[in-house]
Amino acid sequence: MELEKVHVVLFPYLSKGHMIPMLQLARLLLSHSFAGDISVTVFTTPLNRPFVVDSLSGTNATIVDVPFPDKVPEIPPGVECTDKLPALSSTLFVPFTRATKSMQADFERELMLLPRVSFMVSDGFLWWTLESARKLGFPRIVFLGMNCASTVICDSVFQNQLLSNVKSETEPVSVPEFPWIKVRKCDFVKDMFDSKSTTDPGFKLILDQVTSMNQSQGIIFNTFDDLEPVFIDFYKRNRELKPWTLGPLCCVNNFLEYEVEEMVKPSWMKWLDKKRDKGCNVLYVAFGSQAEISRKQLEEIALGLEESKVSFLWVVKGNEIGKGFEERVGERGMMVRDEWVDQRKILEHESVRGFLSHCGWNSMMESICSEVPILAFPLAAEQPLNAILVVEELRVAERVVAASEGLVRREEIAEKVKELMEGEKGKELRRNVEAYGKMAKKALKDGIGSSWKNLDNLINQFCNNGT
Ligand code: UDP
Repeated sequence: MELEKVHVVLFPYLSKGHMIPMLQLARLLLSHSFAGDISVTVFTTPLNRPFVVDSLSGTNATIVDVPFPDKVPEIPPGVECTDKLPALSSTLFVPFTRATKSMQADFERELMLLPRVSFMVSDGFLWWTLESARKLGFPRIVFLGMNCASTVICDSVFQNQLLSNVKSETEPVSVPEFPWIKVRKCDFVKDMFDSKSTTDPGFKLILDQVTSMNQSQGIIFNTFDDLEPVFIDFYKRNRELKPWTLGPLCCVNNFLEYEVEEMVKPSWMKWLDKKRDKGCNVLYVAFGSQAEISRKQLEEIALGLEESKVSFLWVVKGNEIGKGFEERVGERGMMVRDEWVDQRKILEHESVRGFLSHCGWNSMMESICSEVPILAFPLAAEQPLNAILVVEELRVAERVVAASEGLVRREEIAEKVKELMEGEKGKELRRNVEAYGKMAKKALKDGIGSSWKNLDNLINQFCNNGT
């Protein structure tokens, strides 16, 4: 059957960690073998437009922005991305996400001006986009940028109320569907297990998002079939929502990339080059685009890195770490403060041999694709579940353990960092991550990779047969 012209609308959530993989999905669609017949329109807001334009440079994606509502009481003016919120954790996430609903009328007006839409992929957080898709008569597929394991483990914990009656924060409890996996209360957001009234704004938001997700026509995971077959098979067998595994989306950057020859190398790249020339291995330290880390914890990390004696490149938000630290570590460490770096390039640098990470899923995929073993330091959201996947299932990571008061101490950091960079365990993790890295690249191989084939099927399902 001949393919009709395919037009895909993408609407990422307004945070870097959600935008990045969806923009990579845009590239994947545009680089697909039917590329000539595929057009992609990406929706965003005016202040996020430059980031989207930059991320899609060299492609012919259309970018449409719709105004973000102003005068939302809790949200400071000029904030259209979660990394600009003064405090993300629970407090502002709910009003910020709720406010996106005010974009619906403009979004639908813009959609009506576009060529016929074959299907839309919109972020699971933007629950109201399902209503728009229904009104305008095209399918909506959900995207959350997550892996399958953390999704099904999280579902099980809630459906079975696994941790509701557990008092201890650290007592391990088996997940019934995957009994070899144990979760603890401290792996989840603090007040998650408190009974909540149905009028609680956070609870209501999640309910709206889950309801809208379950009524959609499918879900895209940023993973690949060989990475977590047990969990993907489980999802396929036990959920009505059809999963599409199209990752690792970070590898898509290699397609259609419009490599601009950099006239001036960033300072961190020059520093990494120097380390490489001296034959020195570097630990990359970064906690994503919006982690909130206490001053005390940051201090322990700094002292742990100092004690470890390894070379490190640390991308850090704010100025909490005193200058004295930098003077003491000297040439051995480099700090990049409040700067957006090209993390993929850092991870791919020959000198980078380890990654101390908060376990955001994009960072995990990027580390695996770059074949860099990980020291897992999960902080929030589903990061502890991602840590379970990379540490216990894939064995590409070691995990730091917090002391009883919840703080990860300097001695623990120093010891695990040394083990990762110089020890036997580090070698074993490196062997494993190299194997997964190779599989990852294969998954997106033109015409034969599993994710490539899945994309083919997705396009066929929604464009030839309709829904
Ligand atoms: N990132 C980057 N430069 C930075 C900070 C972050 O390129 O200075 C990218 C990183 O490569 C990843 C994303 O931002 O693709 C962060 O996503 P992740 O899921 O790891 O964590 P989150 O920020 O969502 O907590």
